[in-house]
Amino acid sequence: MYNFEFYAPTRVVFGRRTESQAGALVKEYGGTSVLIHYGGGSAVRSGLIQRVRQSLDEAGVSYVELGGVVPNPHLSLVYQGIELCRKAHVDFVLAVGGGSVIDSAKAIAYGLANDGDVWDFYCGKRKPQACMPVGCVLTIAAAGSEMSNSSVITKEDEGLKRSCNTNLARAKFAIMNPELTMTLPDWQTQAGCTDIMMHTMERYFTQGGNMEITDSIAEGLLRTVMKYAVILHAHPEQYEARAEIMWAGSLSHNGLTGCGNDGGDFSCHKLEHELSGMFDVTHGAGLAAIWGTWARYVYRDCLPRFVRFARQVMGVSEGPDDRVALAGIEQMESFYHSIGMPISIHELGITPTDDQLKQMARLCARGCGGHQGSAKVLDEEDMYRIYKAAL
Ligand code: NAP
Ligand code: FE
Repeated sequence: MYNFEFYAPTRVVFGRRTESQAGALVKEYGGTSVLIHYGGGSAVRSGLIQRVRQSLDEAGVSYVELGGVVPNPHLSLVYQGIELCRKAHVDFVLAVGGGSVIDSAKAIAYGLANDGDVWDFYCGKRKPQACMPVGCVLTIAAAGSEMSNSSVITKEDEGLKRSCNTNLARAKFAIMNPELTMTLPDWQTQAGCTDIMMHTMERYFTQGGNMEITDSIAEGLLRTVMKYAVILHAHPEQYEARAEIMWAGSLSHNGLTGCGNDGGDFSCHKLEHELSGMFDVTHGAGLAAIWGTWARYVYRDCLPRFVRFARQVMGVSEGPDDRVALAGIEQMESFYHSIGMPISIHELGITPTDDQLKQMARLCARGCGGHQGSAKVLDEEDMYRIYKAAL
C-alpha cells in the first residue's frame, strides 16, 4: 500500500427534485452572476433548463446562457464561453448536463481565472493557477466529472483530445436527481455504465499498492453497475437502478477506488481519447471496444489482478490462473455485448486505415510522455499493436 491523499470536496445533493436547489446553492457558494452551460438540447426539451432558471430567479441570481456543448466537447465553444462570461462579469459557472458539459464548464472556468490561452493547460504547456467556481446539475451517469479533478477537451481542428487534471476545478456542488437520467437513449445509458466501470478498472489493474478495502469497494461497485446496467437495458425508468448507477458514477471517479494504489493504469482511457479525438466516437463505447484487446495484451504481466477480477467480479470458478484470467476477460466482453456495447473498433462503425492506427499510437505515446500504464507499461509500438488487434 502506498501513501495516499483522498480529496473529494464536492457537496453532493442527491435525489428527486433536487434541481430546485440550484439557485440557493449557487448563492451559498458566492455566485451572483451565472453562466448556465448546457448541451445540444436534451435539457431544454425535458424542461430542466427552465426549472434551473426558475430556481436562480427565486434566489435572485442573474444569469446568461450558452448551450451547444457536443459530446467530446470542443475548444471553440470554450473560447466563446470565456468571452461571453467576461462581458457579463460571470462569477460562477453552472453546468447542466453530462461529462461533456461539465468538462466544458471547467475549461471556461479555468479560462476566466487565468490569463493566456486556456488550451495551454490541456496540452501541458502550463498549469492553471486558479479556477472560477463550478457547480453542476448532472443528467447522465458516466464520466464522473461531477466529482473528479478532470476536464477533457477536444481541439477539433487538430482532432486532439486532451485532459487537464487539477483540484482547482472540482465542482463546489453536484446536484444528482436520478430521474433526470430516465430520458437517456439506451446507448448512452450503457456507454455511461461502461465508462463508470472503466474508471474503477483502470485503478484496479495495477502492479501494486492495492488495499483489501479498496479492492472490496471496487469489486462491489463493478458488480453493482453490471447488475443495474442489465436492469436499465430492459427497464430504463426504474428509479432505484438509475440511482445506483448515478452514485456509482461519482464514486468510481472521485478517487475512492484508487486509494493506496500506484495511481492506476489508464491506458484504455489514453487509447480511447485518440479514437474519439479522430473519429468522434462515444467515449464509453470506445472504451468497451478496446478493453478486451488491451486485457489480453497485458494480462500475463499482471496475472494476480486478472485472476482476482475473474473470481471476485465475473464469478469464474477455480482453475489454472491463466485460464481463469482469460475466462474473466471473455465474460466481461460477453457482458459488454449483452448491453449493446461494441468489443472491437469495427463494431464502433469505423474502419481506421493502418496509417491512422499508427498516427493514433504516435499521438497517444506523445501525449503521455512516451509511456503509459501500470498493469503493463506500453510504448508506441504496444499501442499500435493494441489498436491493430482491436480492429
Ligand atoms: P455527454 O457527452 O455529456 O452526453 C452524451 C449524450 O447524452 C449527449 O448527446 C447528450 O445530449 C445526451 N444526454 C445527456 N443527458 C441526457 C438526458 N438526461 N436525456 C437525454 N439525453 C441526454 O456524456 P458523458 O459520457 O457524461 O461525457 C462524455 C465526455 O466526458 C467525453 O468527452 C469523455 O472523454 C469525458 N470524460 C470526462 C471525465 C472527467 O472526469 N472529466 C471522465 C471520463 C470521461 P444533449 O447534448 O442534447 O444534452
Ligand atoms: Fe472516462
